[in-house]
Amino acid sequence: MSYDKVLDQIKHKKGKKERFEKHNTPKERDYGKSKKECRRCGRVGRGVISEYNLNYCRQCFREVAEDLGFKQLK
Ligand SMILES: [Zn+2]
Repeated sequence: MSYDKVLDQIKHKKGKKERFEKHNTPKERDYGKSKKECRRCGRVGRGVISEYNLNYCRQCFREVAEDLGFKQLK
């Protein structure tokens, strides 16, 4: 479950929310996986293809690859 989903679930539980934020807030990075973001859906981390300056995640790439001119090898 993602950080935002959990935060939404416990937003009205004050103590629990404070503890969760103290220990689970994602680290601010200058570079690395959380800086890579899909330009279509905003997904971060693994699976974001930055080769050829695509910056699509693997899920979005599957959907738009043919429009971009990629052909599947048979
Ligand atoms: Zn995406």
